[in-house]
Amino acid sequence: MYPKITASIEKLKHNINIVQSFCRANGIDPMLVTKCFMAEPKIMQQLDDLGFPYFADSRIQNLERILDLKTPKILMRLPMISEISKVVSSDIISMNSEFDTVLALNNEAAIQNKIAKIIIMVDLGDIREGILEDDEIFEFAKNISKLSNIKIIGVASNLSCFGAIRPTEKNQTRLAYIANEIEKQLGIKMELISGGGSSAFYLVGNGMPKGINSLRFGEAFLFGTEASFGNRIENTFDDVFVLSAQIIEIKTKPTVPIGEIGFAAFRTKPTFEDRGNRKRVILAVGKQDIEISGLKPINKKEFILGASSDHLIVDVEESDVEYKVGDIVRFKMTYPSVMRAFTSSFVTKEYLL
Ligand SMILES: *Cc1c(COP(=O)(O)O)cnc(C)c1O
Repeated sequence: MYPKITASIEKLKHNINIVQSFCRANGIDPMLVTKCFMAEPKIMQQLDDLGFPYFADSRIQNLERILDLKTPKILMRLPMISEISKVVSSDIISMNSEFDTVLALNNEAAIQNKIAKIIIMVDLGDIREGILEDDEIFEFAKNISKLSNIKIIGVASNLSCFGAIRPTEKNQTRLAYIANEIEKQLGIKMELISGGGSSAFYLVGNGMPKGINSLRFGEAFLFGTEASFGNRIENTFDDVFVLSAQIIEIKTKPTVPIGEIGFAAFRTKPTFEDRGNRKRVILAVGKQDIEISGLKPINKKEFILGASSDHLIVDVEESDVEYKVGDIVRFKMTYPSVMRAFTSSFVTKEYLL
């Protein structure tokens, strides 16, 4: 059935090997961030033996799909009070910035006779989650260290999200300092000092301070791109995920619509350049299934004209393929497009070993 997303686990493993060896050679052991593909167990089972220190996701529902795997799991979004009992019972490590939440974790862990591991979230300036001021961070750590059923295993910071602030040698040095200071003040070993996601890749071997020993990569592993400048990581695949969609109409039509102009789908006002009559295909896939802006036809002579909820129109005037109704057009995909495809029940999923 189409539309279909195909994940090449072989290509993914290749990317992982390239990125992992490069980072490890530079003192960083990156964890795999799995939210882009909902931690799909068919993929994750093939990655459990690759020596990842952690698998990380922002949704507990995704982590719950892979609880049987041996790699330790981290919940990256601050836990909701309503999910605390699951976090504790599933031995999921959580990132935290609120003392009330850590208290709830402590109480639940005491009831379940467990030790809940946590990571302190530091805000290095992106102003999403995390504690901003050094003094407040040390106070937070000190108060947590008094709790009987909580263990602080490290610190982390998130960048390049709300505020578009890039990881830099300067802000990463501050995180390393904070970790070191907590170790000194409280005598707790910080196993994990996690500076950022794929936007911190460019600093690896290129100014990343010594104290940082972990990064959290989705994009770098899955797409072979570093996320600060959008550069390709050498010798990686950008087509681990491919979308296939089926042609339901092929016609040559004018490039400018005919009649009075109003709104298009989703209340947009598109503009049209008159390029005469051109051959185009309609594919049975749309905004309900994927992020259209993240699609690129694999055939370089084809390009996307537009889409609505359920239809995608591709110009094939210059294509060297003689398409018929029922034929398949294939696309490379970016992160948001893959994420939407995985959460859409209309998209068939296929895995190549
Ligand atoms: C999604 C996410 C990441 C991974 O981001 P990439 O750019 O895909 O590497 C890292 N950290 C947090 C907190 C996230 O939510």
